[in-house]
Amino acid sequence: MMFDFDFLLTSDTANGILRAWWIDPVMASISFASAVYFFSYQEMRHGTSRFRNWHEFCYSGDGRCILLESLSAYWIGIVLWKTFIPPPGETIPDGIPYSLESLLWLIAEVVSGVVLYDAYFFFIHWGMHECKYLRIFVHREHHGETKYLEARHVLHHSLLDGSAQVLINIMVQRRTPWGDLKSRLARALHNIIVTWMLTESHTSSPYPNIFRKHCTGVRNHRFHHLGIGEGENIAESGVNHAYQQFFGYLDSTKAWYYSKSTSTMKTEMRKKLISIIKNCAQHISDMDKNQESYFNPRFYTG
Ligand SMILES: [Zn+2]
Ligand SMILES: [Zn+2]
Repeated sequence: MMFDFDFLLTSDTANGILRAWWIDPVMASISFASAVYFFSYQEMRHGTSRFRNWHEFCYSGDGRCILLESLSAYWIGIVLWKTFIPPPGETIPDGIPYSLESLLWLIAEVVSGVVLYDAYFFFIHWGMHECKYLRIFVHREHHGETKYLEARHVLHHSLLDGSAQVLINIMVQRRTPWGDLKSRLARALHNIIVTWMLTESHTSSPYPNIFRKHCTGVRNHRFHHLGIGEGENIAESGVNHAYQQFFGYLDSTKAWYYSKSTSTMKTEMRKKLISIIKNCAQHISDMDKNQESYFNPRFYTG
């Protein structure tokens, strides 16, 4: 039996519900809420939660308010963004794959977005720990929970900290690094994957162990919070390591560099890093002016 979802693309709003501007933030909200509740349930099931059941969870201020507060702040931000910032292009492609090439294209769209978000946020996160004022006024709230770090604490952060994450995610979802408009499907998948990975990196539940198995950053994020190093001595471990949320290559590069560099090299490196960040920001702002690339399989279809 075939289901007909045409009404979702043709009714209600000008181009159908699934093409409405608010479908991205709705998808992001639903995936974040589902991941947080799913992992909270797993924590209770495995006895790693400070709550024994949903009743306790919902009646504690922590469990009840955290999602509502985050969602309210998020939606106020989204409406403001929508009011002032125009969409990246006139017609955003749906991105439903119709061939092997377009499936690979979709995968490239999603993977590049996740990798880019992870890389940008590594530098922001590092900066938030290096700079005393950012650490105290922006990032400290996210490190507030030191005893019972659980899935819901992924949402525990200051307004600026959370806004930075949302902004970077929006930016990498507008266009691919090679300049093409990101499709609707790629954006939806990005939101599902990123919110899941972020929640999995905070949970105290041992299962399901999906991204932690393969991604160093997801596996080490709890160590970043709780100050326990993986195979390193305690004094050097903890919050000084594992700034990268998903993958670990930038943390490893940083550790490798600082283990053998002299102080003048460090200053040079810092200058270089600042210019790289500036160039990245410039690159993102230039993307909107770029043309669609000739590699895009969608380019050749009517
Ligand atoms: Zn941190
Ligand atoms: Zn965290």
